[in-house]
Amino acid sequence: MESVKYDAIVIGAGVSGLAAARKLQENGKKVAVLEARDRIGGRVETDQTTFSRPFDVGAHWFHQEEPEQNPLANWARQQGVEQQRDRIHYDSQPFVEQQHRQAELWAKSKGDRPLSQLPPVKGPWAHEARNMLGPLSLGVELDQASSKDFRTMVDEKADLIAPGGMAQVVDRLAEGLDIRLNAPVSLVQWNQKGCWVTAGSEKLEAEHVVVTLPVGVLQKDVVKFQPALPAWKNRAIQSLQMGHLKKIAFEFPAGQLSATPDTGLQVQGSPMFHLVRPEGSDMSVTLVGGRTAQEWEKLGPEAAQQRVLSELRSVYGANLNPRAGSVTHWESDPLSGGSYSAAQPGHQSARAELARPVDGRLFFAGEACQEEWATTVAGAFLSGQKAADDIL
Ligand SMILES: Cc1cc2nc3c(=O)[nH]c(=O)nc-3n(C[C@H](O)[C@H](O)[C@H](O)COP(=O)(O)OP(=O)(O)OC[C@H]3O[C@@H](n4cnc5c(N)ncnc54)[C@H](O)[C@@H]3O)c2cc1C
Repeated sequence: MESVKYDAIVIGAGVSGLAAARKLQENGKKVAVLEARDRIGGRVETDQTTFSRPFDVGAHWFHQEEPEQNPLANWARQQGVEQQRDRIHYDSQPFVEQQHRQAELWAKSKGDRPLSQLPPVKGPWAHEARNMLGPLSLGVELDQASSKDFRTMVDEKADLIAPGGMAQVVDRLAEGLDIRLNAPVSLVQWNQKGCWVTAGSEKLEAEHVVVTLPVGVLQKDVVKFQPALPAWKNRAIQSLQMGHLKKIAFEFPAGQLSATPDTGLQVQGSPMFHLVRPEGSDMSVTLVGGRTAQEWEKLGPEAAQQRVLSELRSVYGANLNPRAGSVTHWESDPLSGGSYSAAQPGHQSARAELARPVDGRLFFAGEACQEEWATTVAGAFLSGQKAADDIL
């Protein structure tokens, strides 16, 4: 057992945990970060080996409505992380128009109802537009999506990407921090005198704890709290849910994928979207959202790959033969429980409750704790900084 008492223990080395720890340390506090995985980043991970270029397994876009609006992109730029505008263009202009009209209509809604109960736009691509806004963006079906969550969040009109991979951002955030990998926290105890966090055989003592566990982990109750979390906090945890987004990526021999770079193909009838030749590469990245992503996870990676390949072959020719491929598994990852949080209809206010500290000892951060930037790396960043500010 260590005898040192920390000012704060941060649980989780994702964007929110690193942002919290960094701010605390910059303000002279003694901080340790405990991370269950053997790597930092959480839902930010860049695969540098499967393909000839970096592939973001988790977050890829800095979403924003206007240039220089994304606080994490702005911070990362100052740290020298190269960025460029997302140049994706959709194959169907009517699809794009219907998506914008649908988003505008939903943004004018009042109250907090399932998106499925709000007026739909009409037109040949209206169903696909709703798939894009619902399962593919929020990660849940429209009857599970909160209209207030939808209209509170920042729109995605001027997105940026980091061509070298989003992991560069977490690497910068982590610089100089005391991070313990392979340290799954199982117990958090606190009282008037302090806090104690158990990870494996280690028990660390601190004045404060910052909990950045994803909603999907908090709901499973694998990390015990003593005393138990108050009822209002548990209600907030249960009023949120995890949305799902699966990525199926391929790389093809040069020249086989005869498409214009950065083509976006929206698949008719299902929440599936192909990003073809991103940044002029020989890759395709297919996104599958919501319930379909969960179903595909159960079918297994080969079935998912075959399904995507047959789609792509029907557009680009039967000779398409990938030289490398990869399928993500966030749906069954016990350390995330899905891709990002979604409020249940009628429960958008649970985000603020999730963020509320307990007894001046336990502080909460993570994308789910933020309202405007919920679900995103920017939300994780801001909520981590907010938790640090609250402690300071
Ligand atoms: C497929 C996918 C695509 C996405 N696309 C985008 C995008 O384009 N743009 C965008 O802005 N966002 C995107 N996101 C969301 C973004 O990745 C998340 O919002 C953000 O990374 C969440 O950060 P966080 O710190 O809140 O949580 P996490 O990154 O999940 O960090 C929590 C950490 O806690 C750790 N942990 C869990 N249990 C324990 C335990 N018992 N003990 C210790 N540590 C534990 C986890 O391993 C993890 O490292 C995407 C996510 C996915 C999965």
